[in-house]
Amino acid sequence: MTADALLCRLDGLQGRAPKWRAICPAHQSQHGTRSLAIGEADDGRLLVHCFAGCDAQAIVAAVGLELADLFPTKLIGHGAADQFRPRIRQPWSVRDVIAALRGELMVAYVLLGAVAAGTPPNDDDRERAGIAMERIAHFLAELDHAA
Ligand SMILES: [Zn+2]
Repeated sequence: MTADALLCRLDGLQGRAPKWRAICPAHQSQHGTRSLAIGEADDGRLLVHCFAGCDAQAIVAAVGLELADLFPTKLIGHGAADQFRPRIRQPWSVRDVIAALRGELMVAYVLLGAVAAGTPPNDDDRERAGIAMERIAHFLAELDHAA
């Protein structure tokens, strides 16, 4: 999640990246005191601190978010966020899929080249072609979901 998604849910917002103050949504603020500090860490993680003592869980829950939302999407599944949310499989990037496809397409290219030149495939070739087909089908399916 980006900082904006949290910030747009808070009242009395002041400051600018990477530090803001706002009215804490988790407790009844006196005179609109901005007791909530929000910070954005270098890795994109959002830090929230209420000077009146509300815990982070209560703060995010008060605006309809979860603790896991304080972590940038790319960190989910790689460390700290694991304790808050089950691992989410990230889609492959188009670049990853193309890199994976390249090797299998090269196998197919070589095999097809041999066949086109009149060399019948042997058992090893057939087996490798079968593996290449499965992998290419798998990578093409990844490509449909690739980011
Ligand atoms: Zn509070």
